[in-house]
Amino acid sequence: MPKYLLSIDQGTTSSRAILFTTQGERYASAQEEFPQYFPQDGWVEHQPNDILQTVLRTCQKLLAENQLSASDIIGIGITNQRETTLVWDKYTGNVIYNAIVWQDRRTSDFCDSIDCVQIRKKVIDKTGLILDAYFSASKINWILTHVQGARAKAEAGHLLFGTVDTFLLWHLTGQKSHKTDATNASRTLLFNIHQQCWDDELLNLFSIPKNMLPEVMDCADEFGVTQSSLFNGEIPILAMAGDQQAALFGQACFEEGMAKCTYGTGAFLMLNTGSKALKSTNRLLTTIAYRLNGKVSYAIEGSIFMAGATIQWLRDELQIIDKACDSEDIAKKTTVEHGVFIVPAFTGLGAPYWDPNARATISGLSRDSGRNEIISAALQSVAFQSKDLQIAMEKDGLRLSLLKVDGGMTENSWLLNFVSDMLSITVKRPEIVETTALGVAYLAGLQAGTFSSMDELSMLWRCEKSFSPEISDEQRNRLYAQWQRAVSKVQN
Ligand code: ADP
Repeated sequence: MPKYLLSIDQGTTSSRAILFTTQGERYASAQEEFPQYFPQDGWVEHQPNDILQTVLRTCQKLLAENQLSASDIIGIGITNQRETTLVWDKYTGNVIYNAIVWQDRRTSDFCDSIDCVQIRKKVIDKTGLILDAYFSASKINWILTHVQGARAKAEAGHLLFGTVDTFLLWHLTGQKSHKTDATNASRTLLFNIHQQCWDDELLNLFSIPKNMLPEVMDCADEFGVTQSSLFNGEIPILAMAGDQQAALFGQACFEEGMAKCTYGTGAFLMLNTGSKALKSTNRLLTTIAYRLNGKVSYAIEGSIFMAGATIQWLRDELQIIDKACDSEDIAKKTTVEHGVFIVPAFTGLGAPYWDPNARATISGLSRDSGRNEIISAALQSVAFQSKDLQIAMEKDGLRLSLLKVDGGMTENSWLLNFVSDMLSITVKRPEIVETTALGVAYLAGLQAGTFSSMDELSMLWRCEKSFSPEISDEQRNRLYAQWQRAVSKVQN
């Protein structure tokens, strides 16, 4: 009897493979980092072969180290960095350009050049997203425009497009299966999230031939089987979801109103809105949370560009801490109202501001402000940005009643206390913080029948620690008003 579910978590800086038991417990994992390429200012690329080989090696290593064979694995779930764009030749298998990573801004001018208000509104109406370089469509267009002969080849049906999930699936299945899932499709700017189909008008807008696009499946589905030479036997691939959606699923946020925030390099707050695709009037994104048996659940999402990355900046550029985790003990030495504010707009501001030209500041310094206050302010900026998202959600008529958190930063209990203080709600950290991988293990397990229902999955979710608000309304309001003043100074 197969015993384990295998999650492939292909992230922006590393690839991981994690085994889960049929009880949803984490069993073992392997991880490998890979290089980032910055060919020009604002450009970010990955070598497609790095993505593929780190995934294959981590899976093979994990199976070997645990003396498991393909027949011990019930099924594979794939979760991935979203929006990152690859185009390859369907006959030779060769990519025609490096993977253009979600952070890449090279197509900003192209996106800005589409300035017709009606078109921009139509894009929001159909996709739930804003017309921005962040998403895949303008990146595909860039590749077809800049790689010699690419457009003609695409029109002749020789090229395939995929986000990272699709690219991995195609290779894992021996170049057989060209598919994606509804969550990844919903981040391309080409998918109509209401009608659940690729949209001809949007394909026209970005000059992309439809025949390049993968088939869109449910998140738990029959995606294909692995080529037997890879793992000495076939393993079915039973689930796919973009990383933030997978985390929402791994946090068992299955009911309307349930929310999670992943605090990693950036931070992503996602709130399940059930069967309604709620349209934000406050510059949050509408996205597909998951699609199961053809039934769609939607979510509202707010993305913060700099969360843990601000702590990396303290470590690598300012060099005032040795390790990210040192920030916790240092922050404990400060009072929350030390007066220093960092607005971490190093690469502009994400939701709800979407201001690419804003740049970071440290303000409120007085003669007695020092290293400790700057470190504390860096952590606090993560909570203030979460508050910005909470307020945008409230203006959209949504209320956060509880926040489940995950990601590398959530080791920091001081931060979670302050998030709870600022949002004025309970914050819960689960026992398994690798919720992204857990989410696709849950999905693969649902498809395989390992788990009978989402109710069963809800019962598996366990809280490790809960954080409750401690500061007064008055203090919260005072702090947040100061933050807003600091933000207003960096905006264009
Ligand atoms: P990602 O998946 O986006 O690569 P992770 O979820 O692995 O990121 O989280 C890593 C980030 O969290 C890094 O930016 C790091 O600076 C930050 N981080 C890790 N531990 C701590 C900590 N104890 N306190 C504050 N920040 C932390």
